[in-house]
Amino acid sequence: MHELGIVFHIANQVQDVAKENGVDKIHQVTLSVGEVSTVIGEYLIDCWNWNSKKTEMLKDCKLEIEKIEAVTFCEDCKKEYKTVEHGKTCPYCGGGNTYLVAGNEVMIKEILVDEPENGETGDDPHSEEWTDEMLAAPWDDPSTENWDDDFEL
Ligand SMILES: [Zn+2]
Repeated sequence: MHELGIVFHIANQVQDVAKENGVDKIHQVTLSVGEVSTVIGEYLIDCWNWNSKKTEMLKDCKLEIEKIEAVTFCEDCKKEYKTVEHGKTCPYCGGGNTYLVAGNEVMIKEILVDEPENGETGDDPHSEEWTDEMLAAPWDDPSTENWDDDFEL
């Protein structure tokens, strides 16, 4: 199950970032999932709900999935087109010299958290949006294909 491995990784990642920032409860995680990625959103949510029950930090944490449209670029005529509609053949020139530029990624887009109880910042008492910098590195790793290897059931 590809999705379960991904869920473990996301949960670990989210909890690590939370600990670093002194957060003890996470309300919602939003993932960006490319429409031609191999991940099935419904399975991902099922796995997420099952897994998040096991930790205090993620209990009742909701997983939102945001689809990213897949886009392919044609080397011959330098145009972009929708991958899902046209596949690997360019609709403008009929060429096959094309490659995917977006649409197979799985990334954390946003994490909504509770402020720490004795937090002194107090601008927004409900949640804060975490920046890309706080969620950097592992999501640029192209080896996400291997995520499920450690989690054979
Ligand atoms: Zn073309």
